[in-house]
Amino acid sequence: MMQNLTVLGTGTLGSQIIFQSAFKGKNVVAYDISDEILAKLPARWEQIKEQYKADLPDTDPKALDDAVTRIRTTADMKDALKDADIVIEAVPERLDIKQDTWKKVSENAPAKTIFCTNSSTLPPSKIAPFTDRPDKFLCLHFANHVWKFNTGEVMMQPKTDPAVFEEVAKFAEEIGMVPIRIKKEQPGYVLNSLLVPFLNDAGKLWVKGVASIEDIDATWRIATGAPTGPFQIDDAIGMMTMYNIDKDSEDPDIREFANRMKTDYIDKGYMGKNAGRGFYNYQD
Ligand code: NAD
Repeated sequence: MMQNLTVLGTGTLGSQIIFQSAFKGKNVVAYDISDEILAKLPARWEQIKEQYKADLPDTDPKALDDAVTRIRTTADMKDALKDADIVIEAVPERLDIKQDTWKKVSENAPAKTIFCTNSSTLPPSKIAPFTDRPDKFLCLHFANHVWKFNTGEVMMQPKTDPAVFEEVAKFAEEIGMVPIRIKKEQPGYVLNSLLVPFLNDAGKLWVKGVASIEDIDATWRIATGAPTGPFQIDDAIGMMTMYNIDKDSEDPDIREFANRMKTDYIDKGYMGKNAGRGFYNYQD
C-alpha cells in the first residue's frame, strides 16, 4: 500500500488533495515554492473543514482535526520527496512550469516513487520526457471539491507501465475517489470529453436563436431527469472558464457563443453562480 504522499503545489486543488488524502489516513507532505505560501495553509484547513462539515454532515470533527496532524509542509524539494511512495503535482497549468518541476522532482525522488500529474489540459506525453521514469508517470485528475465530486480519472500516457496504472487506481480508491480508468491519452479525460461538447451544443442552440436558455435547460431536465441543464452547469463552472475554453475554437458558432458570454454577461460582471449571477440570477 502506498502510504506516503507528496503533493506539489498547495493552491485550489493541491490543498484539497492534501487534506482529503490525510483525512483518509495517508501521511502527506505539502510542498510549495515558499514558506510564505505554506504559512497560509492552517487557515485553508479551517476553511476546508467547514466545507466537509457542510457537505458531509456525518463526518466526525475529530477525524478532520486528525487529518491536519498527518500533514507536514516544506519548501525544500529534496526533503519533500525523501520518503514519497507517490507524488501528485498540482502546480500552475503551464507546460514550462510542469516540465521544469518534473525535471527537479526526477533529480530528487527515490527510485520507488510513482509520479502523477493533476493537469487538466496538458498532454502527459509532453511532460513524461522531462522525468527520469516515463514508465512510472501518468495522470491522476481530480474534480474541484474532491471530497464531494470524487472522481479520480487515472490516465495513461504511451510509456506508462500498466501495473503502475493499476497501483494508482488503487491509491485513488484508498483516498476516497472513484477511479476512472482511461487507457489512452485523451484531452479532457472522460468527463470533459463528454461535458464540453454538450455545453457547447447548448450554447450553439442559443446563439442561433433556436430556443431560449430557460427552454434548453428545461428540456434537458424534464426529458432526462437530470437535476440541472447545460446553462446551469455553465454557471456552476464559471463563465470565465467557459469563455477561455471556447474563445479560440475552430467552430465559428462556438466562438460566437464565447463572444455572447463576454458581451452579455462577463462584461457586466455576471460571472456565474459564485458571483450571484450568470445566465441566471441567484440573488432572488
Ligand atoms: P493554483 O494556482 O490554485 O495553485 C497552484 C499552486 O502551485 C500555488 O500554490 C503555487 O504557489 C504553486 N506553485 C507555483 N509554481 C510552482 C512550482 N514551480 N512548484 C511547486 N508549486 C508551484 O492552481 P490549481 O487551480 O490548484 O491548479 C493546479 C493544477 O490542478 C493545474 O494543473 C490544473 O489544471 C489542475 N486542476 C485544477 C482544477 C480546478 O478546478 N482548479 C481541477 C482539476 C485539475
